[in-house]
Amino acid sequence: MALDFSFTSQQDEFRAFVADFARREIQPHVREWDEKGIMPRHAIKKMGEVGLLGLIAPKSLGGAEADYVQLGIAIEEIGRIDTSCAMICSIQNTLPNLVPGWTDEIRRDVIRGKQLVSIATSETEAGSDVSNMETRADVDGNEYVINGRKIHVSLMPGATVMGVTAKVKQKDGSNRITFLRVPADLPGITCEEMPEMGTRSHQLGIVDFNNVRIPLDSVLGGEGEGKATLYARWNVSRCLSALNALGAAQQVLDDTISYVKKKKVYGQPIGMFQAISFPLIEHYTRIESCRLMAYKGLWLNTLNKNAAREAGMAKWSSITSSVQAIYDCLQMHGASGYLKELDIERRYRDVIALTFTGGTINVMKLTVIRELLGKEFMGISGAQG
Ligand SMILES: Cc1cc2nc3c(=O)[nH]c(=O)nc-3n(C[C@H](O)[C@H](O)[C@H](O)COP(=O)(O)OP(=O)(O)OC[C@H]3O[C@@H](n4cnc5c(N)ncnc54)[C@H](O)[C@@H]3O)c2cc1C
Repeated sequence: MALDFSFTSQQDEFRAFVADFARREIQPHVREWDEKGIMPRHAIKKMGEVGLLGLIAPKSLGGAEADYVQLGIAIEEIGRIDTSCAMICSIQNTLPNLVPGWTDEIRRDVIRGKQLVSIATSETEAGSDVSNMETRADVDGNEYVINGRKIHVSLMPGATVMGVTAKVKQKDGSNRITFLRVPADLPGITCEEMPEMGTRSHQLGIVDFNNVRIPLDSVLGGEGEGKATLYARWNVSRCLSALNALGAAQQVLDDTISYVKKKKVYGQPIGMFQAISFPLIEHYTRIESCRLMAYKGLWLNTLNKNAAREAGMAKWSSITSSVQAIYDCLQMHGASGYLKELDIERRYRDVIALTFTGGTINVMKLTVIRELLGKEFMGISGAQG
């Protein structure tokens, strides 16, 4: 058979396992984590115990050596229940395994949920425009000395080690972005939480670096190759963000189908009104086609093929489709959808976070323009993506 859209029986079993795990270990706590804005330590520990944080990690370190499609299944199923936990699972799988230079000790600990890694690259004037960053790492003897401020850093405070981008002066006098491994508890590091609209349990922080010293062998990837190192991970992580959003939208759509069959207005179930059922069908169709694109992107990554176009297309289309689907479902619940009592308002706040992580919707379109029309048609130089 030349073309096969089915998952294998092992993949189906794995999906059922993750779905059950998420319902038992994550769902009962989600509301409290959101209300208190606290990191889901319990879920992180449990995800580590059952192997969900080391899915693509090598067996020699305690991982499962599974492929990206399997990781996608995990993110989609966790995303059905909680966007924050799926984000955490995605970062812990991709950052230590797709970026070279983490120590084996850190990688083992991440797999078990004993340490958390985070990525600190955004700055006030360098979100999409990564090249514009001001954080510096100056060589002093056998150490780098880091100074600067990073913002919007996921899992901070909370992570034990960060991957930090900084400009390092090269022998030819140029400044090139370098990705550095930085323990979060070093002297000179301070962190303050940035309160968020959604995904409140994954935590977002401002991190200041004031003469922070790290050894020269702390480079992730190669010195001066920070941007290329970041890009290598995005082709996978953007497909995972897409599946995280799609999982949330699918769950909300499924719940809404049950609701519109029961809820009566003007004496009949509102699902009888085509102004309700037509949008539901349209959203189901969009979510299903976006899912195919996201898994195709992961499949291409598994084959070591360039998936920049698919990852960019999957991310912008999946996330905008999911945000719209959840919003429309919220409306179908009337004022109840707007209240805290139901889960939809949280799902809506949460999924919006994914429009920014790993590059905005517009930046995703720029990555696709680069692939389809050529870099010269992007209209800018040096944007993220
Ligand atoms: C929940 C969450 C988690 C995050 N986690 C992390 C993290 O772990 N680590 C980290 O470093 N950062 C993280 N970020 C930051 C994220 O990467 C940035 O928000 C994102 O890259 C966009 O940067 P910005 O917010 O500064 O927007 P800006 O770059 O200031 O862009 C502002 C607006 O202009 C648009 N725009 C920019 N350039 C163009 C262009 N050329 N053409 C058209 N439109 C354009 C953007 O799409 C956006 O709408 C996170 C953000 C959120 C919300």
